[in-house]
Amino acid sequence: MNRRDVSHLVLTIAVCFGVAPASTAGAAVAPRVWLGALDGGVFTLGSAPFYGSLGSTRLPSPIIGIAARPQGDGYWMTSLAGDIYAFGAATSHGSLHGIKLNQPIVDIVPTPSGNGYWLAAADGGVFTFGDATFHGSLGSVHLNKPVTGIVSTPTGLGYWMVASDGGVFTFGDARFRGSLGGTSISSAVVAMTARSDGGGYWLVRRDGRVNAFGNATALGDATGIPAVAVAIVRSSANNGYWVTFADGSVRAFGDAVHVSLPAMHLNGQIVGIATPWASVSGFGLTLIDYLRALSQQTVPLKTWVGAHEVALTFDDGPTEYTQAVVNALRAAGVSATFFTVGYEAAARPDLLRVEAAAGMSVQAHSWDHPDLTRLSPAAIDDELTRSVNAVISAIGTRPRCFRPPYGSTNNTVVNEAAKLGLTQILWNVDPSDYLRPGTGTIVSRVLAAATGRGLVVGIHDGGGDRSQTVAAIPAMVAGLRARGYTFVKLCG
Ligand code: ZN
Repeated sequence: MNRRDVSHLVLTIAVCFGVAPASTAGAAVAPRVWLGALDGGVFTLGSAPFYGSLGSTRLPSPIIGIAARPQGDGYWMTSLAGDIYAFGAATSHGSLHGIKLNQPIVDIVPTPSGNGYWLAAADGGVFTFGDATFHGSLGSVHLNKPVTGIVSTPTGLGYWMVASDGGVFTFGDARFRGSLGGTSISSAVVAMTARSDGGGYWLVRRDGRVNAFGNATALGDATGIPAVAVAIVRSSANNGYWVTFADGSVRAFGDAVHVSLPAMHLNGQIVGIATPWASVSGFGLTLIDYLRALSQQTVPLKTWVGAHEVALTFDDGPTEYTQAVVNALRAAGVSATFFTVGYEAAARPDLLRVEAAAGMSVQAHSWDHPDLTRLSPAAIDDELTRSVNAVISAIGTRPRCFRPPYGSTNNTVVNEAAKLGLTQILWNVDPSDYLRPGTGTIVSRVLAAATGRGLVVGIHDGGGDRSQTVAAIPAMVAGLRARGYTFVKLCG
């Protein structure tokens, strides 16, 4: 039996079972497709090998995309903060870890060689790593809508970026083939994929509708899925595409072979799809909404400290000690950050107004102080939402950050908080003031940590008798100042 006979046999069987072959040649070749999830999980489809995942790792920032090496022998994942996680033969060529970004990273695309990658931020900023070359960005242009995707040209000497309103921007040798810019679309564009000849591209919207431009062919809309579309990637022959959804559904069009995620529980929604010939990160409901929350602020959110910066953070209030804490801080001329317990805030909204009026940052610490890692995602959402609403109703300002009670956290907590636009804030200095070790001990423990590194001091204005903490504030502030520290507030 020769090769042609085998093909014919496969074709016949397929037709007997009522399954249309994906194409008339090579239909039996299972594609290599990986899906990446918000929590760093990686799912392999078709013949894609598993090279590792972040599924059980505590991540500082949610994953927003996955990109495969063109060789198919590895992949990278990246986070909202531009962290890079490399697997298989994909190696890290650097990341944005620790670098302050005005807007979150939304997409990663590999270079044709597989020896570098570009990261794109929501404001159209472009960051190059390895052999990726810079061909311009939208970093200084005011965008009405966030950028949601970046796609390399075949040569790697240019790239396209797409924004959620369907606007397409070209750089380097990328040619403009049309866009949805200027048209009214009811559903945001979340991703883009381009033909291997660079002659056209497809855009996909949250509702699964697909628009084709240039010599890319429209082959159908992926509507009717009860989840948001997050990514689109073309087939290797350019005659089809897959559309991926947040719930792991995958719809195939044209010669794209049908692949589907095995039935399993997803801890975090799917955010991207990658194949050896193209990779597209998703930017679905969660991240769009995250961005919308971000865009409500006019100044970049400060969520951590630099060298010789100290953030005093007070948990578990408001209580009868809150006024005294605020008075001591005002007398010392410093601002601090308060992580408030929702039910306490609802009972004493006047104390949150005291904090806000004194220029303090007022943030969320859950509704009634549970261990969030023991709760379901829905219960976490409820805890945080009620806590956020208590702050909003007291002072009219939406918290941008939260502190998990006991510092107890995991991917689920971080992801649920991110959906609400909340960044998690922990601490790196704990003088254990809640154990009432004595005012002098509280001060000396904090000053012992003041070696020049950034300090986020976790102390309390609630949860018991806090008179020692109140009494420690003047000496703590004076000692930190003497060591060259400046006081910053976080998240507001
Ligand atoms: Zn607490």
